[in-house]
Amino acid sequence: MEMASRIPELFGCMVFGDREMKARLPEEIYTALRRTIRRGAPLNLDIANPVAEAMKNWALELGATHFTHWFQPLTGITAEKHDSFIEPAEDGQVMMKFSGKSLVRGEPDASSFPNGGLRATFEARGYTAWDPTSPAFVRDSTLYIPTAFCSFSGEALDAKTPLLRSMECLRNSARRLMSLFGKTSIGTINPTVGAEQEYFLIPQELYDERLDLRMCDRTLFGAPPPRSQEISDHYFGAIKPRVKAFMDELDLELWKLGVTAKTEHNEAAPCQHELAPIFCTTNIACDHNQLTMEMMKRVAKKHGMVCILHEKPFCCVTGSGKHNNWSISTSHGINLLEPGDSPADNAQFLLFLTAVIAAVDEYADLLRISVANAANDYRLGANEAPPAILSMFLGDELTEILECLSEGKAYDRHENGRLDIGVEVLPKFPKDNTDRNRTSPFAFTGNKFEFRMQGSSCSIADANVVLNTIVAEILDRFSDRLEAADDFNGEVKAIAQETYRAHKRIVFNGNGYSEEWREEAARRGLHNYATAAEAIPHLRDAANVALFEKHGIYTAAELQSRCDIMLDAVSNSVGVEANTMLEMTHKDILPAVIAYTSHIADGLLKKQSLGLASAAENELVKSLSGLTDRIASAAETLKRTVKKAAANENHADRAQAYSRDVRAAMAKLRAAVDEAEMKVGREWWPYPSYTDILFYK
Ligand code: ADP
Ligand code: MG
Repeated sequence: MEMASRIPELFGCMVFGDREMKARLPEEIYTALRRTIRRGAPLNLDIANPVAEAMKNWALELGATHFTHWFQPLTGITAEKHDSFIEPAEDGQVMMKFSGKSLVRGEPDASSFPNGGLRATFEARGYTAWDPTSPAFVRDSTLYIPTAFCSFSGEALDAKTPLLRSMECLRNSARRLMSLFGKTSIGTINPTVGAEQEYFLIPQELYDERLDLRMCDRTLFGAPPPRSQEISDHYFGAIKPRVKAFMDELDLELWKLGVTAKTEHNEAAPCQHELAPIFCTTNIACDHNQLTMEMMKRVAKKHGMVCILHEKPFCCVTGSGKHNNWSISTSHGINLLEPGDSPADNAQFLLFLTAVIAAVDEYADLLRISVANAANDYRLGANEAPPAILSMFLGDELTEILECLSEGKAYDRHENGRLDIGVEVLPKFPKDNTDRNRTSPFAFTGNKFEFRMQGSSCSIADANVVLNTIVAEILDRFSDRLEAADDFNGEVKAIAQETYRAHKRIVFNGNGYSEEWREEAARRGLHNYATAAEAIPHLRDAANVALFEKHGIYTAAELQSRCDIMLDAVSNSVGVEANTMLEMTHKDILPAVIAYTSHIADGLLKKQSLGLASAAENELVKSLSGLTDRIASAAETLKRTVKKAAANENHADRAQAYSRDVRAAMAKLRAAVDEAEMKVGREWWPYPSYTDILFYK
């Protein structure tokens, strides 16, 4: 009770946000800093020095002794290197100091982060640069400063740098189009994101007993439990007290860090849950999602649980993803994807809407690549997550309006009578698009798009870099046409009509999980890259390189490095899984099967000596002996396949060999082991079963 009333005061109490800045900085410094934050204006040391001083004093009051530049190398997670504030003072004493220089720039020795050959090891230093648009915060007696991470020659080595570049690019393109509608004082435009995060929560002691979970965050073996999620009693079900205690503490910790955790509920699979924050600008949403994932892991530990963020920890139940709700908003609170009330507003909405349709169709491969990693392969297209095929859901009504518009026909809105769509009047768009389609990878949900292909463990940066850039590209093409047009309204309509006609193949409102859709999508010529290894090399297709270079998001060299890093991540991830399977097989599973077989065989011998042999026991011994051979030989094959895959010199070939061949060998081994699990007595089996974990007591 008492807690509840303190929440407004606790919210953001560990964040150096606007409230603190205003209170602690001289007015002209505060104004200059705000300008930097809003407009991305450059920051000089005259401003950085007093800001650093104020930040340090604030952090010291909260018990901070250290500071760190906090960055997002291409590992999918964050990195930090702590320095204390101490500086020697005259009489052998120390002072707590923090200079503007230390705030603005850091030079971590970064030779061990993935760089895809962008940086020779002899000049291994990268540098980190303060991102003032995402607020600093205190955690564990350390002041965290969000930063971008680059090589000395300025190449991006992280997730944040291209994200900031893409936000700038979309901001400019959207502003240009808006100004053609006569809207010039609209504040700052930013893409906004609300990232819904799914996760599993299981007891620590069960996790610890499984090498596969400890090494890979995923079970590599496991016979199916007697039930999985067919009884649908978990989704939105009552939350267990132990889980509720976890969620409450998680919310509180996130609130202190200024993360707007809003919705917590149970998800479809047993032990699966979701957290959704209130949306904010993409850059902060991305930092907050990283904080959320880290905080989930920590708080779970305190409650004797483990938070699993892997995309597919258990093979018999739904995996975990993220839903990236995306829109474009002005700092005055106008959502550019909100259908308007007036014809002019509707014309503007129509252009933004068709721009997204064109962008998603033309660059569907880039969106697919942005969610491509080894873990997500186990989920996309497995009849649970959206398929690996990109398509867009608009709902029947909006689709009908666009169809009519593109054919120049009047749209008859069922209840409200006819709506004129003459040349000068555009249709009125429904504002409460309540249609829902959970099987679509990219759905319009009233005033935003929900991209649902992201995996639960990955950074949301990549997908948003793509979204921002491809939409900016199409908006620019629209602006080019409108700037050259004599008849503005006529041109708006022509653009919308032509764009929809050219790209409507991407619109699909039906069941995205069905086999018929796969066939239909192939007929429509849509991409279907089933695995990350197949998708990633297309990052370097000529059209994609041209797009990113044109908008200054990635250079060709940066793209090549990212491509290689992503491909190697696939090889490494599958490789670790294969090695873990081999260790489990030889150290635990085969010994268990053999011991159990001997146990039954001994008993059988004793019985036979009394003339009491059982046919079932005889059969069991025979079948377990057969399985022992099958397991041993499948393990041998797996070992050989890994060796062969690893020998590929080329990044793409190697990833493909791991993805296709090693996984096929893993599946054979798993099938034999899972069969054995069902035959070996509970006490002999070396690991907690799926039943033990998913239906823990
Ligand atoms: P659901 O998808 O479960 O129906 P909501 O539609 O309420 O839930 O919102 C899901 C997420 O979308 C939330 O994180 C919410 O903050 C976010 N969201 C809502 N409006 C926007 C917007 N304009 N831009 C980005 N995200 C948004
Ligand atoms: Mg949702």
